[in-house]
Amino acid sequence: MTVTARTIVLAARPQGTPDPGDFRIESAALPDPGPGEVVLQTLWLSLDPYMRGRMSDGPSYAAPTPLGHPLPSEAVARVLVSRDAGFAPGDIVAVHDHWRDHMIRKGTDLRRLDPTLAPVQTALGVMGMPGMTAYTGLRHIGKPKPGETVVVGAASGAVGALVGQIARLGGARTVGLAGGADKCAYVTETLGFDACIDRTAPDMAAQLAAACPKGIDVYFELTGGAIFDAVLPLLNPFARVPVCGTIATYNATSLPDGPDRTPALLRSILTRSLTFRGFIVTEFWGDAPEFYPRMAAWLQAGDIRYREDITQGLDQMVATFIGMLQGRNFGKTLIKLAD
Ligand code: NDP
Repeated sequence: MTVTARTIVLAARPQGTPDPGDFRIESAALPDPGPGEVVLQTLWLSLDPYMRGRMSDGPSYAAPTPLGHPLPSEAVARVLVSRDAGFAPGDIVAVHDHWRDHMIRKGTDLRRLDPTLAPVQTALGVMGMPGMTAYTGLRHIGKPKPGETVVVGAASGAVGALVGQIARLGGARTVGLAGGADKCAYVTETLGFDACIDRTAPDMAAQLAAACPKGIDVYFELTGGAIFDAVLPLLNPFARVPVCGTIATYNATSLPDGPDRTPALLRSILTRSLTFRGFIVTEFWGDAPEFYPRMAAWLQAGDIRYREDITQGLDQMVATFIGMLQGRNFGKTLIKLAD
């Protein structure tokens, strides 16, 4: 069987907001799999904000994607051909792969998925990397106590939605910020946050202060930008800030104008004994054995809800990614390639 793989490669490093011309699609026939290898058909690809970092060659925690190479993505795939005794055609697996529709991988790279446990694409969201990010950032850094106030931006998105729900399950008061009335209604009515503020409202900072009458004990940082500016004055003594993402600045090409606010920030950290702790989810990968059954149980009990924003086809992947960075997604961003 000859299988042709279509792959999106990085053609140029984006300056600011990525442009469709920064990417191109290449097609190539896959060779026959060798011993221990399998041919996979991608069913689902994940789009995540971290991918913007891989497109730039500035210093970061991971090497940039070289020009002409495919971008990384978590994938859910079906085994088409197997030369690994552990896998058979039809098996569904999760694999850290690239923006492409077919691939050859070693069986040792794959994690088998059980479609009876949860829809397989949840391995890219609530039962995958974003879920682990919310769970471990709260567990190791945020450490909310019952009755404390937890605030998170991008609250209808993949990570933020889970941060609020997990914190609420632990007895915290949860306040989200999201882009627009529809997202905010979903955050409070479906996800059960105590309040949600529209981050685009002109009086967003005043609304946030009113929604946090006892201040903020845990701010799970996903956005940076104007939300951070509104949160900082509200942080209580000994507040914890898991610094997880700063999506408001991912397309920035320079530092913002204005006075240098670093001294005021340092003074706040000092005088209010604040803890800021950055993390990349891979640091806490060891929590996976406890995380998967716990999240599966929450899902089965209806304690955690999630929403997916599904776009069909590899050809739509670039536009969908650009839109996600501008808040056009509503829920976990997924690309569906095949049934
Ligand atoms: P989301 O599903 O939340 O999608 C991104 C959301 O960011 C958009 O929907 C939008 O929501 C919000 N957003 C976009 N622009 C801005 C802006 N200028 N200001 C405020 N919010 C904005 O993405 P994820 O949940 O996958 O990721 C959220 C964050 O977590 C990102 O910063 C990401 O890099 C980080 N992350 C970090 C990890 C780690 O290991 N440290 C792992 C996974 C994610 P809205 O319009 O509703 O505000």
